[in-house]
Amino acid sequence: MKWRVVVEVVRADGTVQLQEVSVGGHTATDCSPETLGLTLAAGKEILARLQRHLVQAQTEEHCRSRRNCQRCGNQRPLKDTRRRRLTSLFGVVEVRAPRFGPCRCGVASHRTITPVAEIMPDRCTPEYERTLAKMGALLPYRRACALIEEFLPIGDAAAVETVRQRTLRVGARLEREAVSVPTSAPPKAARSIALSIDGGHVRSVRSYQVRSFEIFVAQISNDDGKQVVFSSMPAEADRQVQQLRGVLHGLGAAPHTPVTILSDGAEGPRSLGEAASIGPTHHVLDWFHLSMRIQHVAQVAKGWPATTAGEREEGARLADTIEHIRWRLWHGQLQQALDLIGDTLVPLDTMAEAASPIAATAGKVAGVLRGLETYVTGQSELIIDYATARRTDEPISTATTESTVQWLLHRRMGAQQQMRWSPRGAHLMLKVRTSVVNGTFNVDHAHAERWARRPFRQAA
Ligand SMILES: [Zn+2]
Repeated sequence: MKWRVVVEVVRADGTVQLQEVSVGGHTATDCSPETLGLTLAAGKEILARLQRHLVQAQTEEHCRSRRNCQRCGNQRPLKDTRRRRLTSLFGVVEVRAPRFGPCRCGVASHRTITPVAEIMPDRCTPEYERTLAKMGALLPYRRACALIEEFLPIGDAAAVETVRQRTLRVGARLEREAVSVPTSAPPKAARSIALSIDGGHVRSVRSYQVRSFEIFVAQISNDDGKQVVFSSMPAEADRQVQQLRGVLHGLGAAPHTPVTILSDGAEGPRSLGEAASIGPTHHVLDWFHLSMRIQHVAQVAKGWPATTAGEREEGARLADTIEHIRWRLWHGQLQQALDLIGDTLVPLDTMAEAASPIAATAGKVAGVLRGLETYVTGQSELIIDYATARRTDEPISTATTESTVQWLLHRRMGAQQQMRWSPRGAHLMLKVRTSVVNGTFNVDHAHAERWARRPFRQAA
């Protein structure tokens, strides 16, 4: 069997053009699993040729229609013809780009026009840019390139440096869009908003003055269950507060909407949340971080010696006490928890000073318990009755933000990726990554187009 793929183009004037895209088949009568249907290579080849025919036919049609003067209908004079290359997901297409002079009637435009520039303002299609940026935000650039090349007839058009540049350029545009004043009407006012905000660290390039720098990640949700992720590198962000406020606005934050700000108590993330909120705020130390601190004490206490019955009893009593401390903090009984910590520290300190086999462990437990005491005292104003809050469905934990931080930072920008970042690069990368994780990247990319500087776009 033999086959032929033909593209039939019917022009606006009704003329039909047939072009062969591909021929295939085998002379042998037997069919094998290997020769059944299209191979990846053949499929890529067909897509590339089809794309070439389509783009060339479309640009020719567009140029033909633009050549006629809108006023008198005569043809504008041809000034010259250049060639232009357009990179798409289905390969690079070279097209003819004629320039037409002003019409002789002199009534319509006095300018020379390049019709191809109108439909091809950049060297690539928007979809090519969008896909490169998305893949570049999801995977290390090299792997993104390899993956794109594997499945698309893109040739060598997807170079590592191209993916990097496009991703960061798109990130910069997304940020410009984020700081612009929202033109859309705000959605219906939310009854409440929860803002979980946390810091994370990214390893910096060697030329930067410190080994790593902090970025902020926030997860914001409203009572409708709608959730949006935000992140930025504070020093690089353009009007960071305004950007976060824009996210809150999109979730229906009105001047009377209460905002619960969950954090680990650190000043930076907390004050960003505070500054971005227009409604009344309520700060809460998130249970996730507090319980991690308690867990740390419990973990160290597990190392209590257990060689004698007395030691085992002592160890069990200590574990029990730590659970009581946890219970009191969970119920917001701050003073009782601190009292219990104080009561536990006294015998531990005594044991640590005695010349006994448990002295070292007692000292270690006392150390971490004292750390917990300092933390709880420092954050006392942010500690709430978590048990009641959980029953009444109020936000108590940033554990979900923690996993978002994991996804945003560590999967793509963590130490195991062997990659170092400049603060600017990390910031712009995060703009694209958060847009992707929010599921709004295609729309965001289209909206941010107005900030793009395209090489062939004519001045209006
Ligand atoms: Zn004319």
